Amino acid sequence: MTSRNQQLFELSQQYIPGGVNSPVRAFKSVGGTPIFFRRGKGPYVWDADDKTYIDYVGSWGPLILGHAHPDVIKAVQAAAQNGLTFGAPTEAELEIAELLCRLVPSIEQVRLVSSGTEATMSAIRLARGYTGRNRIIKFEGCYHGHDDALLVKAGSGALTFGHPSSAGVPEGTTASTVVLDYNDLSGVKQAFGQFGEEIAAVIVEPVAGNMNLVTPQTGFLPALRELCTQYGSVLIFDEVMTGFRVGQGCAQGLYGIKPDLTTLGKVIGGGMPMAAFGGRRDIMQCLAPLGPVYQAGTLSGNPVAVAAGLATLRLVQMPGFYEKLAATTGQLTEGLTLAAKKHGVIFCAQAVGGMFGLYFRENLPASYTEVMSCDKEAFNRFFHAMLEEGVYFAPSAFEAGFVSAAHGDAEISKTLAAAEKVFDTWK
Ligand SMILES: *Cc1c(COP(=O)(O)O)cnc(C)c1O
Repeated sequence: MTSRNQQLFELSQQYIPGGVNSPVRAFKSVGGTPIFFRRGKGPYVWDADDKTYIDYVGSWGPLILGHAHPDVIKAVQAAAQNGLTFGAPTEAELEIAELLCRLVPSIEQVRLVSSGTEATMSAIRLARGYTGRNRIIKFEGCYHGHDDALLVKAGSGALTFGHPSSAGVPEGTTASTVVLDYNDLSGVKQAFGQFGEEIAAVIVEPVAGNMNLVTPQTGFLPALRELCTQYGSVLIFDEVMTGFRVGQGCAQGLYGIKPDLTTLGKVIGGGMPMAAFGGRRDIMQCLAPLGPVYQAGTLSGNPVAVAAGLATLRLVQMPGFYEKLAATTGQLTEGLTLAAKKHGVIFCAQAVGGMFGLYFRENLPASYTEVMSCDKEAFNRFFHAMLEEGVYFAPSAFEAGFVSAAHGDAEISKTLAAAEKVFDTWK
């Protein structure tokens, strides 16, 4: 008997390329049929066959309060009643801009956009316009959305210029992007030594969450800050994932480093399409209509999205919010590590705030190459076995996981019991 999920996936493939509107949803990495979701509530989701799962994806990061939080839903409904979009300024945009400037240490001015991709693309353009330079540095394994200039992979050998990692991206577009290894300070120093005066920007995920999870080693972020200051390059923290996910001051607050520009998305939209980029006032004022760097958006600052974002940001400011979130996430990763150890499974895990990484390898990875050396087959087996048990992890060995404030002891216990069962029959 075919399930409703399977039927829907087959039909979808007729009308939507690959049956999905974003590639990782297709389960290509883990194999099998993607789950079609019908509804979500708190830490739980229900699929098209009405099976329940504990959700550790949270729509890839936005849902820090869990699914359908009553305050967020209420705010969205109230905003919608007053009109869906105006293409003109609203008071709520002022409110969220003021809030972001207050909460994010380095942001003095901010502009709202509709996706993380738009935010990073605009930040890169702004950095180039501000410096009058073209070259940018990015790090292997960091993902900054699907802007042409950032869809780059390293060439062979150190310090070669990047090659497009997607068809349809002209070589010329990526030719000024240098791809370096995450946490590799000597590579960064060498690049600045060689053409520091030409570098418009360094863009980095301050905690890398798009190659599973890789934390910055001591000294890495401070050195980026120092070199950018020395050479007049713009340091961009891409905090689309880490913003309000690892702490109220984002990753820059956690590590005590002020970038020049910051990109935000995911959590700040509370589940609606909203993102932002902001930073130093002198740089932000190069944007149109004040300056020569053009950037625009019909639905930018959309009132319904802003309402969802405001409701979410209000709740994450409650005392103890991030302490509890980090404690819950730590309970999960420590529990999984113990369960694996007990059964002799090669595995480790770590958490930063409300995000976590699971690795089927001996020790925590520090670079893309080390992440790639994880046992992917073991992850895929674990993923499907946990899915069977009603636990939904990201359908890829190379994505970070997310815990929400709606996850509690009950969900963690259930998850750990499922993992015990899975690891018990591992060998
Ligand atoms: C998700 C993500 C993006 C892209 O955001 P979209 O809203 O999917 O365009 C960019 N940077 C980082 C670090 C992300 O995690």
